[in-house]
Amino acid sequence: MIRSGAAILVTGGAGYIGAHTCKALYEAGLNPIVYDNLSNGHRAAVRWGELVVADIRDCFALRSAMINFSVAGVINFAGLIEVARSIERPDLFYDINVAGLACVLEAMHEAEVPRIVFSSSAAIYGQPRANSKVSLLKETAAKSPISTYGDTKLTGERMIAAFSAAFGLSGVALRYFNAAGADEAGLIGEAHEPETHLIPLAIKAALGLGGPLTIFGADFPTPDGSCIRDYVHVADLASAHVAALNFPLAAGGFEAMNLGTGTGTSVFEVIAAIDSAVGRPTPYSIGRRRNGDPARLVAASERATRKLGWRPTHSSISEIVRSAVAWHRAPAYGAEGRDKAGLADSRGTA
Ligand code: UDP
Repeated sequence: MIRSGAAILVTGGAGYIGAHTCKALYEAGLNPIVYDNLSNGHRAAVRWGELVVADIRDCFALRSAMINFSVAGVINFAGLIEVARSIERPDLFYDINVAGLACVLEAMHEAEVPRIVFSSSAAIYGQPRANSKVSLLKETAAKSPISTYGDTKLTGERMIAAFSAAFGLSGVALRYFNAAGADEAGLIGEAHEPETHLIPLAIKAALGLGGPLTIFGADFPTPDGSCIRDYVHVADLASAHVAALNFPLAAGGFEAMNLGTGTGTSVFEVIAAIDSAVGRPTPYSIGRRRNGDPARLVAASERATRKLGWRPTHSSISEIVRSAVAWHRAPAYGAEGRDKAGLADSRGTA
């Protein structure tokens, strides 16, 4: 159990899931210290703790931050996330996601920080086998990433397990399915640049803030022909990180768990939810399949429920879409929020 008021270093804490997690940490009585180089994160998203502007590959700066703030645990969000770009730029992805994580682990070892919670991804499973058409993906499913991004996440998990076993750290990897939605209070939300995710792109199309949505294939072997995903509200993901920090895991232990809802939603179902939240039809066209998109990815999350007591409570597609529409109507930062917030630099992914 992490003591009340303890400092938690949150790398990538100015990004989407990172910022929501800082809010949850703060509300749980912990002290988030955001460590972010703001290459993709937003200064305006840092509202619940101090900000250290530094790079994840700067091992010295990491160790100094851990020592100066007497850090009790690390949550590692920092990293690149765009699947298509990972295939074009493996150099960047291995450097930041893998060599950067090695720096974090080395600094933790030197500064004697005992626990890490790691942002992992459903992308480590790759293309699930045909028999998973209706079943839920368990943590024990075969891991064969089909993108460099997925490979960096699987490698990250293996590195943490190895550091844990060798140096007595403890690690929890949380494998996110599709993060979506925004903070209820409207202070933080999803503001990636460039945006590649379905829900923000469809909402921008519906609100007239972006061009029509292209649906990447309507000929998949699913009931309506579009891909099925497991959308989880970002506030539910955030609460899982707080639970993972407090999970009683022995020194040297490593655990990995899925974070999903067990319910699949198709692209057409997402669009219908957005149509009803916005009050007009989302303009779209049907395009070709995107490389590497599995037809169906839906998580079995019993492990997170059993071990962390975690249950998503905000993740119905209507609540996710409603909160995301509210954010996109009045974003506090990001491309559309830049003028409003008067920010010099608010580019963003992470
Ligand atoms: N998608 C789409 N058009 C877009 C973006 C995404 O049809 O402009 C589809 C994509 O093919 C996938 C689903 O929406 O089936 C979710 O994609 P997203 O990029 O949001 O997340 P991913 O599942 O790739 O992590």
